[in-house]
Amino acid sequence: MKYSPNSPILLSSSLHVDEARKAISQLVKELLEESNAIADPADIETVSLDQAIDRILAEDLLSPIDVPAADNSAMDGYAFAGKCLDTSAPEITLQVIGTVFAGKPYDGKIQQGECLKIMTGAVMPTGCDTVIPQELTIAQDAVQIQFKQHQLKLGENRRLRGEDLQAGKPAISAGRLLRPSDLGLAASLGIATLQVRRKLKVAILSSGDELCSLGTSLTAGSIYDSNRYSLSGLLNRLNLEIIDCGIVRDDPASLKEAFIEASSKADVLISSGGVSVGEADFTKQIMQELGDVGFWKIAMRPGRPMAFGILKSSTGQSPARKTLFFGLPGNPVAVMVTFYQFVRSALLQLNGASQTEVPLTQAISAAPIRKKSGRTEFQRAILERGADGKPTVRLTGSQGAGILRSMSEANCFVILGHNQENIAAGDWVDIALFEGLL
Ligand code: AMP
Ligand code: MG
Repeated sequence: MKYSPNSPILLSSSLHVDEARKAISQLVKELLEESNAIADPADIETVSLDQAIDRILAEDLLSPIDVPAADNSAMDGYAFAGKCLDTSAPEITLQVIGTVFAGKPYDGKIQQGECLKIMTGAVMPTGCDTVIPQELTIAQDAVQIQFKQHQLKLGENRRLRGEDLQAGKPAISAGRLLRPSDLGLAASLGIATLQVRRKLKVAILSSGDELCSLGTSLTAGSIYDSNRYSLSGLLNRLNLEIIDCGIVRDDPASLKEAFIEASSKADVLISSGGVSVGEADFTKQIMQELGDVGFWKIAMRPGRPMAFGILKSSTGQSPARKTLFFGLPGNPVAVMVTFYQFVRSALLQLNGASQTEVPLTQAISAAPIRKKSGRTEFQRAILERGADGKPTVRLTGSQGAGILRSMSEANCFVILGHNQENIAAGDWVDIALFEGLL
């Protein structure tokens, strides 16, 4: 089914969070399938490893070598031919004929009854296939060692060539949001540059007559524009190119001009404010002229109103260039919640990432939480270890959609599902951590 932002289901009085996510993902998929896709999969850049963090890998990274390149010792100990373990004697004694260090392969020969002192990572000498760890020897000096036969099997404590990766096989799959370990892995293969997707260009703007820029004094009834700063922080975490379009007044001409300007430059436009019931009417009118945008009432808290769809740039290109548009609610917490829930995964999907969802985990609620069935709630909370050692979560103060402190003090969302009702102290609840180990 072709996505349409104004299809009846999406205009239903309350859209389930999952339906909204599905509709967004469907539109992104369609955009990617179009030949004039806004993030053309062919848009690939080559970057050095030190520039590759948080970029999305564009092609499978094939290992050019076996890792490890040779059989080597997994322990500090003594290497020998393991067939001598096939004996009924309870103890085995071996003569030490030398030492093998990591990085200095041993080129001598070893006879039955002999062993070599070996360091972790050193290449297994020819004829050796087993290592007795230093701490399992019952006697050792410079010339001989002794250990109990039953403590070891042939082949133990040896890492095999190609055990981690085989030459020609994918070491990292396309679509990976590159993490520090991926950069280390690429380096371990001798690879200095990676093919990544180009950075998406994301325009942000704040709309509202009451908004004041930083550096100016607040006048009566005005507030500082905080949303652009939380949004740019969120976007910087995704290593994207941000186009800051500033504050736009609640006036149809200015708003229209700003939308046209932003969509001519950006792959994605994220605005905040101006989509709540009182204000949506004139925003809606502008959107009808500029593209195909639906105005949704999502069954969630915070973040109920949201606009979503595409803007078509009228720069004379044929077919028209398309910009994905998210009109987020103005409330500072709602902006962040809707970003985490809807925008983040759409940006990742648009840029070819294979993993786009925020991972969930669970914790025990320290206190009761009131919850109405029929909407998904995103409460701000602190996850910590309870006195019993179990993960415990407690809400951060007042949960109003405008109270950014509830978010600033929190380290996670407690996510209460659509059909869930009141939570009792001690119940397990779903949580999504703001910061992972990524
Ligand atoms: P709106 O969605 O435009 O009706 O705004 C909802 C609430 O969020 C109002 O209290 C606005 O003053 C506030 N708000 C809107 N935009 C911003 C912004 N950029 N920074 C801080 N607060 C905002
Ligand atoms: Mg407003």
